[in-house]
Amino acid sequence: MKKNILVIPGDGIGQEVTDWGKKVLEKIALKFNHQFDFDEALMGHVAIEATGNPLPDETLAKANASDAILFGAIGHIKYDNDPSAKVRPEQGLLKIRKELGLYANLRPIKLFDELLGASSIKPEILRGADILFFRELTGDVYFGEKKRSEDRKTASDLMIYSAYEVERIAIKAYEAAMKRNKKLCSVDKANVLESSRLWREVVQDVAKKYPEVETEHMFIDNAAMQLIKDPKRFDVVLTANLFGDILTDEASQIAGSMGMLASASVGDKIGFYEPIHGSAHDIAGKGIANPLASILSAALLLEISFGLKKEAEAIVNAVDQTLKQGWRSADIADYTTPIDKKVGTSAMGQKVLDNL
Ligand code: NAD
Repeated sequence: MKKNILVIPGDGIGQEVTDWGKKVLEKIALKFNHQFDFDEALMGHVAIEATGNPLPDETLAKANASDAILFGAIGHIKYDNDPSAKVRPEQGLLKIRKELGLYANLRPIKLFDELLGASSIKPEILRGADILFFRELTGDVYFGEKKRSEDRKTASDLMIYSAYEVERIAIKAYEAAMKRNKKLCSVDKANVLESSRLWREVVQDVAKKYPEVETEHMFIDNAAMQLIKDPKRFDVVLTANLFGDILTDEASQIAGSMGMLASASVGDKIGFYEPIHGSAHDIAGKGIANPLASILSAALLLEISFGLKKEAEAIVNAVDQTLKQGWRSADIADYTTPIDKKVGTSAMGQKVLDNL
């Protein structure tokens, strides 16, 4: 198979971990006799520094010309501490999602058995949990109108959804549920929010076309609690942009760490693959970030965009093997990890490559 892959490392630890996602893809090409041609582009703070634009036209053109995109993270402390900055790294990410029509963000949450001790949740609660989140990605308060009063003392963000936006992601989530355990939980706040009432109505309509799938509607506040209390009760979770953002960070504790979670953003054409974590200022530049979320994002890229299931499985097995051998980056190490098995980004990435 011959494919073009665009790599956008972005900022902070994005630059450190994406390199390993790319190296794993190169190894897969060699091992399974594919040709992957790589190109690289700027986005986020690095793009603002170089061009003044968080998503330069050149990056968008390269993205449109690619078959799939492997992304790292954007963000810089400078903007987090200056909420009034007009040009911001996250504008690049929001714009590329919109431009490429990436409306469905898939976030698989599955714990590798070896990491049962790495989570702050009790092992008996975690064992066997396997959830697939569908987070809507191009609507909600992220894209609704933002306002500030003239005296700057009042602000609002419009939470807005149209029926077609809910319907298209609901169909994707139901299709996935049909291939899994045929259970879908739609999370909203329909007791308070009008946009959630629309969300629920549309999901109820779509549900009628999938009578084999057991549908549950849950309020976001309850879902946040149930996720930690009994994660095994969930199979496919379908939710809006803001709720999905928060719930999946919470769910990262089910997988042991933010550094373990990969995601796929898909729409009608090119797929976009990235760890769920951000640029992590607190550890950027220290060489200790966990590269596994980026490596597992590369596996999702092969499976979803290119249909290369065997190759994707090879990556997941190599990660599993690395964990079985006891290697741990700092975020997934626990008190039982011997000091010589606690490794940095490069050593962890290299162990996965060796196992591959
Ligand atoms: P974050 O995800 O960057 O980090 C949260 C915590 O998890 C930190 O303590 C960090 O050290 C840890 N962590 C994250 N990834 C890790 C990894 N691979 N290995 C080990 N530990 C890891 O979230 P934040 O601190 O809230 O935000 C930092 C910056 O990232 C901000 O500028 C924010 O806007 C941006 N951000 C970007 C994205 C994205 O690009 N998709 C997502 C979230 C946040």
